[in-house]
Amino acid sequence: MDSRTISLVRTTFKAVVAEDDGPERLARSFYSILFTDYPGIRELFPAAMDAQRDRLLKAIAYVVDRLEEPDKLMPFLAQLGRDHRKYGTTDGHYIAVGNSLIKALRTFSGTEMWNDEVDAAWAEAIGVITETMLGAAKAETSPPVWSGRVVEHQEVLRNLAVIRLQMDQPMSYVAGQYVSVQIPARPRMWRYLSPATPANDRGEIEFHVRAISGGWVSPSIVGHTQIGETWLIGAPLGGLGVPRDPDRAMVMVGCGTGIAPLRAQLMFMATRRANPKVHLFIAGHHPCDLYELESLWQLSITNPWLTITAITESEDNPWWYMGADLGIPPGIELRVGQIGKIVAGYGAWPDRDIQIVGSAPVVQTTKFRMMAAGTPTENIRHDPLF
Ligand SMILES: Cc1cc2nc3c(=O)[nH]c(=O)nc-3n(C[C@H](O)[C@H](O)[C@H](O)COP(=O)(O)OP(=O)(O)OC[C@H]3O[C@@H](n4cnc5c(N)ncnc54)[C@H](O)[C@@H]3O)c2cc1C
Repeated sequence: MDSRTISLVRTTFKAVVAEDDGPERLARSFYSILFTDYPGIRELFPAAMDAQRDRLLKAIAYVVDRLEEPDKLMPFLAQLGRDHRKYGTTDGHYIAVGNSLIKALRTFSGTEMWNDEVDAAWAEAIGVITETMLGAAKAETSPPVWSGRVVEHQEVLRNLAVIRLQMDQPMSYVAGQYVSVQIPARPRMWRYLSPATPANDRGEIEFHVRAISGGWVSPSIVGHTQIGETWLIGAPLGGLGVPRDPDRAMVMVGCGTGIAPLRAQLMFMATRRANPKVHLFIAGHHPCDLYELESLWQLSITNPWLTITAITESEDNPWWYMGADLGIPPGIELRVGQIGKIVAGYGAWPDRDIQIVGSAPVVQTTKFRMMAAGTPTENIRHDPLF
């Protein structure tokens, strides 16, 4: 795509979403056009569409923002295409989605903004996206979906569970990647989760899940998962992972269940002979959120390349926490305060490969603080925030 095409696509999208309720109205209009013009497609989507609408807009915004960075965008779209095989998507579905999106954008842009040139620019952009996703999906030989039987469900906190599954066949993923998951109690409501263990040829996989208040899926996982039930798991996604260069020291910041993909990488690294220095900041809002501190401290004892600092935003546990004080293992520094401020307080980390994992606000504020302290943006990696 040339710069003119990219600029037209970006300008129209930004103009539509900048209006009052623009994102919400665009998403509603897109789905109503899609389900009216292509009724057969409705069954691929969940009955409750609120979370779906939000994710669609974030995903389009993510793609539009990266049109000028094909080296990042193309691998992302290829992964997305491989992941979409779990829906049984066909060429026809892609055409339906593309046509409906253009129709919805045209409706909201109005005749002044939407002309033939804009129409052609969007058609080209959607063509590139479709071709990349479909091409990757068709070329992939791994299963479109794995199934996993729950073999263990451990409620670590009232609102957080560790779930272990035995997959029907091993999945090959890079430690640090994430997958989409569907649980039997919530059909068609796929959610992203990050494996907390590296890939293995036994097909074992572990997830750490926090129940989000008012959420459709996570409270059900934490509160109602049954041993023996079967989950579906889509193809791996994401660009986190240990850098290939063994001399490139790392900083990892994981807040809450954001520790999961970092733990997977550290476990993988512990099996290698040589590793770069890693400074891990394991963070939580309350001391009880540092549920993985003890096991990661054990890992650091036998792996001197790993340094751990614990951060909590509050000194006290929440009122509902009835468990024992987890304590801070010897040799681990505990800092209390705002996560980004503390990490950035160590300096700019100019030569480090940096990964930040956690909820969107934690990732954004930590990244902002680090950039303000002089950390080069290109050194910071995180998953898409949707
Ligand atoms: C790349 C990636 C990896 C992820 N890995 C994990 C993981 O390993 N473990 C894990 O527990 N979760 C993980 N998540 C989050 C997970 O995918 C779900 O978004 C989360 O569990 C909420 O789903 P839900 O169905 O319960 O809530 P939904 O029904 O989707 O949302 C309900 C409401 O809660 C809001 N909401 C959603 N997430 C949060 C949040 N984190 N904090 C505050 N409000 C929120 C939504 O905006 C919405 O208003 C990951 C997300 C991404 C993008």
